[in-house]
Amino acid sequence: MQDLKAQINLEVEKRQKAEQMFEGLDGVLKMLAAGDTLKATLEKLIKFLESKIEGVRCSILLLDESGQYLIRGAAPNLPKSYCDALDGFLIGTNVGSCGTAAYKNEMVIVDDIETSPLWADFKGLALSHDLKACWSTPIVNIRGKVLGTLCPYFSERRSPTDQEIQVAQFAAYLAGVAIQFKGGEVALKESESRYEELFGQLKSILEGTSSETGQDFFRSLVYNLALSLGMKYSFLGLRKGEKIETLALWGGDKFEDNIEYNLKGTPCEIVVKENKTCLILQDIQVEFPEDQILVDLGIQSYLGVPLLDSSDNPIGNLVVMDDKPFANNITAEIILNIFASRAEAELTRKKIENESLEAKELAQKANKAKSDFLARMSHELRTPMNAILGFTQVLAMDEKNPLLDYQKENLERVSSAGNHLLRLISEVLDLSKIESGNTDLTLATVDLVPIVDNAISISQAIADEKCITLKYEKIPECSYFVETDPLRLKQVILNLISNAIKYNFKNGSVSISYEKLMNGSLRIGVRDTGCGISGSNKDKIFKPFERFHKDVSTIEGTGIGLAISKQFIELMGGLIGFESDVGEGSFFYIDMPISDKVSLPVLNEYESVIERSSLDEGARKKKLLYIEDIPANVDLVQQILNLRPNIELFSAANAIDGIKMAQEKCPDLILMDIHLPGMNGLEAFKELQTIQKVKTIPVIALTADAMTIDIKKAIDLGFHSYITKPIDVRRFIKAIDKIIPNPASS
Ligand code: ADP
Repeated sequence: MQDLKAQINLEVEKRQKAEQMFEGLDGVLKMLAAGDTLKATLEKLIKFLESKIEGVRCSILLLDESGQYLIRGAAPNLPKSYCDALDGFLIGTNVGSCGTAAYKNEMVIVDDIETSPLWADFKGLALSHDLKACWSTPIVNIRGKVLGTLCPYFSERRSPTDQEIQVAQFAAYLAGVAIQFKGGEVALKESESRYEELFGQLKSILEGTSSETGQDFFRSLVYNLALSLGMKYSFLGLRKGEKIETLALWGGDKFEDNIEYNLKGTPCEIVVKENKTCLILQDIQVEFPEDQILVDLGIQSYLGVPLLDSSDNPIGNLVVMDDKPFANNITAEIILNIFASRAEAELTRKKIENESLEAKELAQKANKAKSDFLARMSHELRTPMNAILGFTQVLAMDEKNPLLDYQKENLERVSSAGNHLLRLISEVLDLSKIESGNTDLTLATVDLVPIVDNAISISQAIADEKCITLKYEKIPECSYFVETDPLRLKQVILNLISNAIKYNFKNGSVSISYEKLMNGSLRIGVRDTGCGISGSNKDKIFKPFERFHKDVSTIEGTGIGLAISKQFIELMGGLIGFESDVGEGSFFYIDMPISDKVSLPVLNEYESVIERSSLDEGARKKKLLYIEDIPANVDLVQQILNLRPNIELFSAANAIDGIKMAQEKCPDLILMDIHLPGMNGLEAFKELQTIQKVKTIPVIALTADAMTIDIKKAIDLGFHSYITKPIDVRRFIKAIDKIIPNPASS
């Protein structure tokens, strides 16, 4: 991981470097297009250069109309008296760095002005201005004719690094572009067609180095490279062992299919293996007679540069070739390097993109596996819990065979431990779903007051048990609508109230309050008179599995409630927070933005999603078919139905038998398990819908699949309702009563 990070940093640095070069070029072009003066453009260029080389001050001198005298161009940071002295001196050999460079049309490096013979006549002037070293680069036009000089000065003795020479040459190239574009301002005017050619060249550089990404980019790059250098062929290749595989290949009039060729005996071998620029301007076949491609295409000239990775190791090459000799052009190498560094940046970008794509795919796969695992685990854990909690309830409710007191106590322990485990399962499931981004919130604009009222009334029993007074600090006067998932919001409010009760003292109180905030949110507050939260624990309170009380073993909880609450509230666009003093109590609050939209009914349970008309109540015994493969579950339902003697239970252990039995018995209600061997419950339901005789029988899904997505799937298919295991006996009976009314209560 660390390595990848370091590599990305390096790649980014390299890409930034390449892009800075384009910025410089782009900046100059923009100034030209905007009609800025030559002086302003050259000054901008000098600033660009001065920002790239530490401690440098630059000057640009222009050659006058006679081509013999250097005159003032731009030097914003050199002393005026020095610039005045240089203005209008004759070029020649031994005329300082600039005069000599302009005369010889070659770069002149002087690392110590004091001792250099070139500066013999001028060193007094330079040293009096604290200038001790300089390297002058000729500025040339597209034909290689000198237009002026660009010269970085230093106040210490020093020689340039290779990179500094490159930057200075690039800046000189840009200065050449600027001077030619502003041809009217200097003596060396070129013909109209020359400008057009130059314009075209620059346009090609810009187009070839910007535009698209990926494959399109490489094609655009080789095409524009060939165009800007006036070469017939151009390609970009990557090294694969002893071979080169091209990524884009321009064949003079069209793109060719990519090829693979052996490096041995080719100029590319020097480029890629020796990491060298290879410029052969004519008669290349004499040097590389074994290179069949050169022979077949009749190639004369070849310019190739290596493409480097982030550690400067060659990974490929960028090449232009022609069947004619190539006129030596000082800018050709620079242009080739501009394209090469842009290609390297794109290769880097692609590499990082591929790596992060792979990482993303891997993460997605891991997430999916995690969700599947959770869904399965949740099912597997809930299934045995159904028997444990179901039979516990049946035993406790059996009035015919009342339990002894110690048996009741033991049963309560089983029930409490079972319920705790169940809560833990659903909370861990909630938390994992949030963490893997798989939370399924159902947002609606609802009145918050009834949700809070409902949470308070549900909590009343636990408050009474603990001798805690539960009260409204201020009764809300009106409705407050918020956009939220009502079930999840209720879950959060219940959690806050339940904590306020759990971590309170005997005879303490819990107050619920509403407050309209200035920012348009509604604050629901839960204040307790409990033990409070100490400073060191405050930061950890919303972290999962953090519990702070010494007696946590006696206070039921999982340590996940607040972590989930925070995530839910934030996902719903709200905020959760608290204030607390040890010994004084705590104030937890939720701020939800108030919505001005209308209310939708709050759905408390999934069973109420689809209400179907009840069946007519006949005197006959009602039939209930339960399709379920686990005998303990069938036994449980049978025992619960002993509370409804008017109902006769039939069962089938798989879907096929169940469908057959449904046709034979025509039951009043079908309970359908979803995870069945062979055909599953959803498929069985679809099958039932195709059979005229049974298609109107209400079917309730009864399963341990507790994920909302499963519930939605079943409801969408047309199930009457959905009951999750473990069965809550009272709710189960209520759901059955809705379809087969209990004659005893009518
Ligand atoms: P749980 O209550 O299941 O342990 P929570 O995530 O709801 O988990 O709370 C985490 C911890 O924060 C609790 O164990 C408790 O130590 C502390 N805590 C939460 N609410 C309060 C409160 N109102 N007063 C004091 N401590 C609290």
